[in-house]
Amino acid sequence: MPTKLSRRNFIKLCAGGAAAISLSGYLAPFMKEAVAAGAPPVIWIQGGSCSGCSVSLLNSVHPDIEKVLLEVISLRFHQTVMAAAGSLATEEGLFATVAENKGNFILVVEGAVPVGADGSYCIIGEKNGQHLKFVDAVKEIGSQAMAILSVGTCSSFGGIPATPPNPTDCKPVSEIVKNVPIINIPGCPPHPDWIVGTIAHVLLYGDLPELDVFGRPTMFFGDIIHDNCQRRQYFDNAIFAKNFGDPGCLLELGCKGPIAHCDSTYRLWNNGVNTCIKAGAPCIACTEPEFPGWPIYDRIPEMPIAPGITATVDQIGGVLGAATAVGIAGHLAGNVLTGRIGPKKQAEKEGDN
Ligand code: SF4
Ligand code: SF4
Repeated sequence: MPTKLSRRNFIKLCAGGAAAISLSGYLAPFMKEAVAAGAPPVIWIQGGSCSGCSVSLLNSVHPDIEKVLLEVISLRFHQTVMAAAGSLATEEGLFATVAENKGNFILVVEGAVPVGADGSYCIIGEKNGQHLKFVDAVKEIGSQAMAILSVGTCSSFGGIPATPPNPTDCKPVSEIVKNVPIINIPGCPPHPDWIVGTIAHVLLYGDLPELDVFGRPTMFFGDIIHDNCQRRQYFDNAIFAKNFGDPGCLLELGCKGPIAHCDSTYRLWNNGVNTCIKAGAPCIACTEPEFPGWPIYDRIPEMPIAPGITATVDQIGGVLGAATAVGIAGHLAGNVLTGRIGPKKQAEKEGDN
């Protein structure tokens, strides 16, 4: 029989390396008890999205996904993944669940909300013989929820569907519903632990976890990739990969790790197998509000680091990097002066050849 998990231990569990194998597995006994005791159900709706966030959740295999959906988060409705059948799996069932649990359910929204053409670009079903527009569903259901989880960068900040020219006028959920607390769980896609852990916090403690200025739970988005990167030693020694597959820091190949908030360097993806940079792909900062508003494989221009504040990657690296107190530029200059990179090093390399 699980004992109650203190909030302090919960946060430590979510934020710590112990969660690397399976956060859902650790939380399952506590959540099972909470769900059996009548914890609020979860309703999940999808709009302007690729379904990647749902697919990411399906990657929770410890315990298996059926247990996660039914016992860990009590998922009552999902447009593409649902145990229910018949009328329960229709919009009729959706709105009946909302009515039964008014003010006492969590709404998960996946995808941006297209508001162009009065919302007609995104129809998710039928209600009273009329098209059910996604924007109307988000407004009507969201305004009756105890909290909304905007899952994925599209739902949190607009993401790819809202990228200019944004022909369908996609908006993040926070611009559609104003009367209910909203938690942003960005990522393209988000890690399943970020989704399950945030839902678990709201269900177990009845309130929101600590959030940063962009509404992201700090227990998952409090760290910067660059600070915990497996390639950080390369950066500190100014060894930069010039081609994909090379050893070295991926900064010159467009890595946005110095401005990206997420814990995937130690949480790892695919049940602890690997993560973006370790696999050789530059971080694209998929958890940041401006994603994907920059060239993926180029060094970035000025970036927002807080509402109304921007900085270049060099400035950010300089502030954040323990070994780069004078900034990447200064760091590089120092390396040129000491001959670790630059013309002298290049001449040595050519001599080696
Ligand atoms: S720039 Fe990217 S690859 Fe290089 S150390 Fe920072 S996060 Fe890692
Ligand atoms: S490391 Fe970068 S690209 Fe990978 S999930 Fe985190 S923010 Fe996204």
